Amino acid sequence: MSTLMNKISCADDYDPESLSVQRAREIILDFVEPVAGHERLFVRNALGRVLAEDVVSTANVPGHDNSAMDGYAVRFADLAAESETTLSLAGSAFAGRAFEGRLGPGECVRIMTGGVIPEGADTVVIQEVVRADGERIAIPPKQRQGQNLRRAGEDLRAGEPAVRAGKLLRPAELGLIASLGVAEVNVRRRLRVAFFSTGDELCSVGTPLKEGEVYDSNRYTLYGMLARLGCEVIDLGVVRDEPAALEAAFHQAAAQADAILTSGGVSVGEADFIRGLMEKLGEVAFWKIAMRPGRPMAFGRITSGERSAFLFGLPGNPVAVMVTFYQFVREALLKMMGVSPLDPLPRFRVPCVSALKKRPGRSEFQRGVLFLDDGAWKVRATGSQGSGILRSMSEANCFIAVEPERGNVEPGEMVDVQPFDGLV
Ligand code: AMP
Ligand code: MG
Repeated sequence: MSTLMNKISCADDYDPESLSVQRAREIILDFVEPVAGHERLFVRNALGRVLAEDVVSTANVPGHDNSAMDGYAVRFADLAAESETTLSLAGSAFAGRAFEGRLGPGECVRIMTGGVIPEGADTVVIQEVVRADGERIAIPPKQRQGQNLRRAGEDLRAGEPAVRAGKLLRPAELGLIASLGVAEVNVRRRLRVAFFSTGDELCSVGTPLKEGEVYDSNRYTLYGMLARLGCEVIDLGVVRDEPAALEAAFHQAAAQADAILTSGGVSVGEADFIRGLMEKLGEVAFWKIAMRPGRPMAFGRITSGERSAFLFGLPGNPVAVMVTFYQFVREALLKMMGVSPLDPLPRFRVPCVSALKKRPGRSEFQRGVLFLDDGAWKVRATGSQGSGILRSMSEANCFIAVEPERGNVEPGEMVDVQPFDGLV
């Protein structure tokens, strides 16, 4: 028996006719594997890529104790606890220009933010509280030892990993790596994802629509979602609902890509013929997921000669394509890209101002708009929630994720939301 079928048939709660979103996600994540190839890139070119090995700090960052404020570096032991202390000015320490020598008893040094703390000094007094009269500097009482210092190594310690393998590199990591003086990093190679749309009714943009045809929009949303994840996309176009054409497309995809995404052809009316074909080309499970939209889905692996690729057979409905991508495919592709640890889409609870129609027994991902109402975030549903209405996705900025056990939601009840866009 094949590995996928082995894995899932062992699970006692596996029911392909009604699979929970959670179970489907677990099976998929358990089955996919990170790609192996690495490449070396200049730090800037690594934005959005996944680190293949730890970046270890070779030095402390910052390299020296330095001042967090503009003021005066002093020896705490010189200060009287309950009265003003007058110190004599011995020199200055600016960022990039250190004070040479050691601070003696009764001395202080003018210091600017980032200036290296002179030897002997252990405390910085901010300039706003000090009275300066030429070389005589009066320090008020009640200072704290060690105040206003940034310690050597408080950002990064020498010898410790500064950024770990598996991290998706964002602007913060680029800066952190640069702060170590590192110019190049080792990252995983880009994930290659092939995709095509299936359906005899589909017409590509740029061609006049014939009677009964619809424009193929799924290849555009898929392109956008994959490109934003940083995948290398291979667009195999529209494939007719014909066994020979589909078989050729699957072979072509499996020969070039790590993952294959298809849309359409997995609903009950069409499943028989495509199911036979997918089963012939690899190992594929067909699921009815207890969710809306996005009930039918296929998942598995397609083989072509020596090569194989993971297959995500998504439903044809334009909204269902996006929902299933965000709920299942995105995380699986991140794992294949080498991201670790994997965080699910963030989810948080807000009051819902709309009434939502919902049947218990399945997860629903309605389209919502998070908005600010007098200082508090709330969500309202976008209008029509039909799974063919892509406008609902465009108007929305989040999913309203309603748990399986829940029924209708009354205005004012709390619901979970998953924003579409993060900061990355
Ligand atoms: P299917 O899952 O193939 O039965 O398709 C379900 C619905 O989605 C049908 O109304 C299709 O016309 C529509 N659909 C399928 N593929 C696409 C596509 N690539 N672009 C836009 N609509 C599609
Ligand atoms: Mg179809």
